[in-house]
Amino acid sequence: MARPGDKIIQAKLVLVGDMGTGKTSLVLRFVKGKFFDLQEPTIGAAFFTQILSLSEATVKFDIWDTAGQERYHSLAPMYYRGAASAIVVYDITSRDTFVRAKKWVQELKRQGNPNLVMALVANKSDLESKREVDIQEGEQLSLEHGMFFIETSAKTALNINELFYEIAKRLVKAN
Ligand code: GDP
Ligand code: MG
Repeated sequence: MARPGDKIIQAKLVLVGDMGTGKTSLVLRFVKGKFFDLQEPTIGAAFFTQILSLSEATVKFDIWDTAGQERYHSLAPMYYRGAASAIVVYDITSRDTFVRAKKWVQELKRQGNPNLVMALVANKSDLESKREVDIQEGEQLSLEHGMFFIETSAKTALNINELFYEIAKRLVKAN
């Protein structure tokens, strides 16, 4: 819980990555604590808020999810405007989405914010038997771009809190 006098950091967080990688599921798992199967690609109210309290500060996330526009492989500038943090998502069962993750990282970098806190997320880690992308490949890509890397499952909730806590920590450091 936030305490009086705590420092409060309000931070816009955007999610990017190919359609079907689990962006909306990650957000819903974090914000609502649930996994919803059989989603429509265009579900996603586009906007959620969630608060995380660290010992040093409270972080208020304004989370922007896409509503299916990522199918055009690029998002409008206003989606990125003012973002303090970004999550690039790929699906460990689809090498295509990993290849495309590199393009999403480039698009983020083109936005020109050198302080953007960036995370690379390898989602659907519960589907180990269908894995097409090794952990080491994700780690390597994240190192090249100064990103935080983690494997998650929106389905089982693996590493979801860890992901957002790490982003919050980095935002606190950057402020
Ligand atoms: P988005 O298009 O990136 O927003 O992806 P969605 O969140 O809509 O998820 C696409 C599909 O993948 C849906 O059927 C989800 O139920 C499923 N999905 C999302 N995350 C996971 C996960 O961690 N594990 C598994 N097994 N399925 C997932
Ligand atoms: Mg979605």
